[in-house]
Amino acid sequence: MDDLYRDYILDHYKNPRNFGELAGATHTYSDNNPLCGDELTFALKVVGDTIEDVRFTGKGCAISQASASMLSEQVKGMTLDDAKKLDRDDILENLGIAISPARIKCAMLSLKTLKGSAWGLAHWPGDPEETVKK
Ligand code: ZN
Repeated sequence: MDDLYRDYILDHYKNPRNFGELAGATHTYSDNNPLCGDELTFALKVVGDTIEDVRFTGKGCAISQASASMLSEQVKGMTLDDAKKLDRDDILENLGIAISPARIKCAMLSLKTLKGSAWGLAHWPGDPEETVKK
């Protein structure tokens, strides 16, 4: 395991928050990061315009799973509008370490999967290629 990973990242990786199936989920979406082999599924229970509950399942590297665990804590109780404003910087702030370009999709898979579940958006957050295409 990389020494650069902070304890709290390893803690989220080993003891992921909101991990498992969600009874009564209204939205689910699965995605993966083929570069690393990370897989995530996000399940949301949306009531009105609020994310009342969230669970995720998945497997992969510490960055991808810790990122999902942190994001799940962050979005629980948020309105969909507020969750929609989350971007690449929020994810990097959660992780709190420098993420190399090779690992950026590990970090962003959580947000990509969340946005896929909530709105069917399926592009990489802040992906330079995506920006160029606009
Ligand atoms: Zn990864």
